[in-house]
Amino acid sequence: MKIVVIGAGSVGAHVSYRLQEQGAEVTLLDASRPGGGTTSSSIAMHSEFPQRAWHEEEGRAALRPRLDAMMSRLAEEVPGDYMHTSGALLWVSPEEQEEFDELARVAIKRGVNLEVVDPETARALEPNVRFPECAAVYIEPDAGWVDGPAIVDALVERFEELGGVLRKGARVVAVRRTSDRVTGVTLDSGEVIEADKFVNAGGSWGSHISALAGLAIPLDLVPGVVVYTEPFKDGEAPQRIINTPGWCGRPDPSGGLAIHWRGHSQTARHGENIDNTEEMMIDIAKVIPSLAGTLPVRSTVGIRPIPPGGPVVGALPWLPNFYHTISHGGIGWGPMWAWCAAKEILHSETVPELAAMRPARFYLNPSQVGRHADDAEQQ
Ligand SMILES: Cc1cc2nc3c(=O)[nH]c(=O)nc-3n(C[C@H](O)[C@H](O)[C@H](O)COP(=O)(O)OP(=O)(O)OC[C@H]3O[C@@H](n4cnc5c(N)ncnc54)[C@H](O)[C@@H]3O)c2cc1C
Repeated sequence: MKIVVIGAGSVGAHVSYRLQEQGAEVTLLDASRPGGGTTSSSIAMHSEFPQRAWHEEEGRAALRPRLDAMMSRLAEEVPGDYMHTSGALLWVSPEEQEEFDELARVAIKRGVNLEVVDPETARALEPNVRFPECAAVYIEPDAGWVDGPAIVDALVERFEELGGVLRKGARVVAVRRTSDRVTGVTLDSGEVIEADKFVNAGGSWGSHISALAGLAIPLDLVPGVVVYTEPFKDGEAPQRIINTPGWCGRPDPSGGLAIHWRGHSQTARHGENIDNTEEMMIDIAKVIPSLAGTLPVRSTVGIRPIPPGGPVVGALPWLPNFYHTISHGGIGWGPMWAWCAAKEILHSETVPELAAMRPARFYLNPSQVGRHADDAEQQ
């Protein structure tokens, strides 16, 4: 089966690798270079707390407990220095303490490896972090972070070894279709690539790509700033991901921290960004004193692809050979969407947990081809 995957970020790289590994002939297209989109500007954590304790739609909640094992298996299967099981530390503001104590109880009951310790114990583990006098520090030893560009490189390398074809600088500018199937994509060079199946893994460009096929898949595009600190001197770097009420920092391959400032709570909605990085560094140095007096060495902006109501995975009933894999959390969920795509595209099996994630939810009545729910509501 010939398959074209559009977009070589974390999601497209996972999907292409898995489809090729399971016997498809895959061509992976990227308008620019693999791993250069949102994947290169991400905190890229994989963690289970508090996510496993949060209330979420049934299907996603059923898939979530399998993510960590999938990621660990992948690290054995695809060589590369991209997985960093550093562990993570988290604490919350006094206002959120009661809520998080309850979330911790639920997470532990659901099997998450979570230790709840006092700040004194946490200090012994991370002597370079100044912990506040909070009631509890939550430690998740199995959490970690993924080097986004490195995992994409590793997946693409393995994909190519298996015979997959990567095309860089290959922007899809048109999608050719009949009433019920996509037949090919046109690149900006004018070249047309035909295939049996197509996967839209365009991340925050996913709406554009589906629109080229005549579809209206909405996406909230939520920018997130990541700032990178100077490299630490020997012995001064925190070893774990440090997740405070105001910001989350993870070790970065450059030797410093990659930090996303998110506001004043652990449960703040996505979309808050710092407006003054100097003030941010003063705030951060209160927790990591060795960063006092330093400024960020660079910053990047990632555009989160957030489909309203959760990930979009699957095809529309009236266009079954055009599959979507668009989600936020695409670093942690990448291996899962790849597994789902392989099952559904190559083996014609249905993954029942995806029921609420189908793109048809954006249409009032899936049998009425092309009728978009929002348009109809306004009529
Ligand atoms: C600040 C921040 C923190 C985050 N933290 C986490 C986290 O802790 N854990 C987590 O799992 N996720 C996190 N995310 C989200 C995660 O980074 C994204 O969900 C993920 O990187 C999206 O990957 P993707 O492959 O879907 O998209 P991208 O990486 O953006 O890849 C899409 C690719 O499609 C290509 N493309 C676009 N249009 C076309 C076209 N017309 N033709 C061909 N190619 C095209 C682009 O060039 C790009 O390479 C965070 C994001 C941000 C911004």
